Amino acid sequence: MTTATDAETAPATTPGSTESRGAVLLEGITKRYGDQLAVDDLSLTIQPGEFISLLGPSGCGKTTTLRMIAGFEHPDAGDIKVSGRSVLNAPPYRRDVNTVFQAYALFPHFSVAENVAYGLQQRRTPKSEIREKVTNALDLVQMRRFGDRKPTQLSGGQQQRVALARALVNRPAVLLLDEPLGALDRQLREEMQLELKLLQSRLGITFVFVTHDQGEALSMSDRIAIMRAGRIEQLADADTVYARPASAYVAAFVGQQNFFRGPVTEAGAAISSPHALVRASEPLLPGASLGEAAVRPEYIRIEIDDAAVSLPGANATRGELIGVSHLGDTMQYLVRLGDDQSLIVRRPTPDSPALQVGDTVVCTWAAHHVLLFPEDEAAREGGYVPPPTL
Ligand code: ATP
Repeated sequence: MTTATDAETAPATTPGSTESRGAVLLEGITKRYGDQLAVDDLSLTIQPGEFISLLGPSGCGKTTTLRMIAGFEHPDAGDIKVSGRSVLNAPPYRRDVNTVFQAYALFPHFSVAENVAYGLQQRRTPKSEIREKVTNALDLVQMRRFGDRKPTQLSGGQQQRVALARALVNRPAVLLLDEPLGALDRQLREEMQLELKLLQSRLGITFVFVTHDQGEALSMSDRIAIMRAGRIEQLADADTVYARPASAYVAAFVGQQNFFRGPVTEAGAAISSPHALVRASEPLLPGASLGEAAVRPEYIRIEIDDAAVSLPGANATRGELIGVSHLGDTMQYLVRLGDDQSLIVRRPTPDSPALQVGDTVVCTWAAHHVLLFPEDEAAREGGYVPPPTL
């Protein structure tokens, strides 16, 4: 978790040219803490007005990257440009960025309006201008009527809105958000996701959003940078990272997957796993010897085993149903294939089969839903979702 400094509240003053205002350019930035390589030669071009998320598991370097853009950390190598200018030698308050943290970092003894006004006062903005800007900023987050309250008299969601108003009060070109919704409960978080996205499109400010919550990143971002060990593993829009993940690591981190592992066969078009021959519609792994096949739970059909029908030679498996759960619009089934593997299957509730725990079931899927990747042992340590439980 990060802590705020006064610099966070002091809007920056170095706008670049009109067309590049809000652009962020990271050029080969590296950051080490002792032996720990937190960010490793990372390059990223963020367009003005873009909503970009840095997504990845704990420790992959998201916060360090954000803090270097903010100016709270200095890279060991590389350059950072905001609005077309290098900011490496600029302190945080001279950059055209502001930061919103997970810990709202409001001053408890100040009122809401005073918290929002603080940065402007530090910069000796005229009083009448401060009043107008504070009112506008509180309006943006629908908090105008709470201006006289103290932060302790607000809910978590309201405090985060105030933190947002404080960061937006001077309309920075870039807003950096470090897990800003992490402390909110799920329903409030989902509401705030929608509001943040609306606010961002309305203001046209570049948002760089750090999260380890893939749902949050998928629902809000124009593009998502999926990070692994200080580098970007894939940079693409939500549809692409979901449907065409660049690696097993990304496939495992974004959405849920079933993985089958084993030798690559059929000239790179299939994986021979202990529980199924998993075939893709194209030979995606020519030359690889070990591979992983990924199939999403929603692409698997499940039915009661009818011993009269023999299983197809590929993309089919038999197992014991060990769990059924109602997720509202979908039903989720957990099927045990063997001691070392189970499958998650999800079907839309209206046409989900009536199955009982203990049933023997057959699971099948189409080749065009199969993704193949080279075997990636290391990915499992960082990005893999733990085995499913119901
Ligand atoms: P989280 O989601 O847990 O915040 P993250 O992806 O934001 O993780 P960072 O906080 O950027 O990751 O940390 C990247 C790596 O650098 C981690 O291994 C972390 O332990 C290390 N690190 C970060 N800050 C420091 C520091 N001030 N001193 C030493 N090591 C640090």
